Amino acid sequence: MKSSVPLIPPYGGTLVDRTVDAGSLSRSVATGAPAIKLAHDAAIHLGNLAVGCYSPLQGFMTEEIYQSVIADGLCAPGLNWTIPILLHVETEIFAKVKPGEALVLQNANGVAVATLNVESAFSIAPDAYCKSVYGTTSKTHPGVQDLLGKPPTCLGGTVSVAMEIMPKFRYLSTPAVARAWVEAKQAATCVAFSTRNICHLGHEYLHNTALESADALCISIITGAQVKGSFLPDVIFDTYEYLLGNHYPEDRVLLNNLRLPPIYGGPKEAFLQATMMQNYGFTDFIVGRDHAGIGDFYSKYASQKIFEMLTSLDIGIRPISEPRFCKVCNKITTERGCRHDGTDVRTLNGRDVRRYLMENRFAELDSILRPELSNLLTRMFEENLAPGSTELCMRERRKLLYE
Ligand SMILES: [Zn+2]
Repeated sequence: MKSSVPLIPPYGGTLVDRTVDAGSLSRSVATGAPAIKLAHDAAIHLGNLAVGCYSPLQGFMTEEIYQSVIADGLCAPGLNWTIPILLHVETEIFAKVKPGEALVLQNANGVAVATLNVESAFSIAPDAYCKSVYGTTSKTHPGVQDLLGKPPTCLGGTVSVAMEIMPKFRYLSTPAVARAWVEAKQAATCVAFSTRNICHLGHEYLHNTALESADALCISIITGAQVKGSFLPDVIFDTYEYLLGNHYPEDRVLLNNLRLPPIYGGPKEAFLQATMMQNYGFTDFIVGRDHAGIGDFYSKYASQKIFEMLTSLDIGIRPISEPRFCKVCNKITTERGCRHDGTDVRTLNGRDVRRYLMENRFAELDSILRPELSNLLTRMFEENLAPGSTELCMRERRKLLYE
C-alpha cells in the first residue's frame, strides 16, 4: 500500500475559512447595519477570501496591510504579497461607517451575502498604488484606468460570507475541494496551468509536457474579466470538457474555474495566481514569460523573474518558453526545443482564434487548434445561425464572445 503523500501547506500555514451559514448571516444583518452593493471586482475578491483562495488574508486589507503590500511587498512578516485586495467604498458610506462597526455586503440584486467587520477606514494614493502594482502611472494601462475610476476611500477588515447564497459558476471549486482531489489522487506533483483563453495547440503542448513529469495537472480557467471580444466562459469550458472527456488522460486532470477580475498586473499578478494555486494544493505552477501582461508594459521575463526576488511561496515555479509552430520542423516547438526563429515560426494565440472565427476563416483555425476543437467552435457558430439564413450575421456571432 502506498504511503500517504503530504499536501503542500496553504500559504501562511492555515487554509482560511470565512464562511458562515445563511441563517447566522441574516441574524447579524437584522441589526440594521449600513449596507453596500458589491462592485463586480469586490464580489469576486469576496468569494476568494471566503474559501481561503487568498490565505492568509481574512478579509479586505486594512490600511496597515495595504501599506505593507505597497511599500514592502508583504502582507505579514515574511509573507510576500503583491496585489492589494481592497474594498473601495463611495465617500457617502465611508463617512457613515467607523472602525468597530459592521457593514453589510450585498450582491448586485441587493441581497445580503456577507458582513465586513470594519477594522480600518483609509484613503489610498492612486499614484503610489499604480507605481507599486503596475510599475507605471500611465493612463494607457487598463489597470491604472480601472483604479482611477474607483473611489480612493476603502474599508478593511475580516469578512463573514454566506457562500450558499453567493453566485454559482461552472467548475468553480474551493481550495478545500481541490486539496481533497489532489490527496485522493495521491499526487506528489500536481502542476497548475492558468489561462483566460481557449485551448490552442501551444497550450496542449504545455499540458502534455506537464503530464509527462507530474502526477496530475490542474487547468484553471480564469474567468471574471468579461473583456469585450473575449470568449464567454461557457465556450472555453465546453472545449475543455471535450478535451478532457475524449483525449486527456482520465482521472489525472482537474478543470477549475479561477475567479479573478481583470488586473493586467504582469509579474505581480503572476505572483498572486501562484499564491492562489498553492492554496488550492498544487505543487507547481506554469508561468509564461509575459504571464498576465498587457502590451509592452512589462519586460519579457519579468513574470518569471519576480519569483527569484519574492521567495516565500512553497509552490514550485515552472518558467516556460512560449510554444510556437515551427514551419521548418513542422511541429510545435519552443525556442529551447529547436533552432528556428523569425519568419520560420508562427506564434499561437487566442486573438487569432477569435479573428478567424469573426472573419469566417474557419479553415485557418486548424493552424491554431486541433481539428476537433475547430469543428466544435465552428459548429457553435453555426448553431447561432438565424433560421433560414445562409450567412452568419455579426450580432448572432458575438453570442460566443463578450460584447
Ligand atoms: Zn524548428
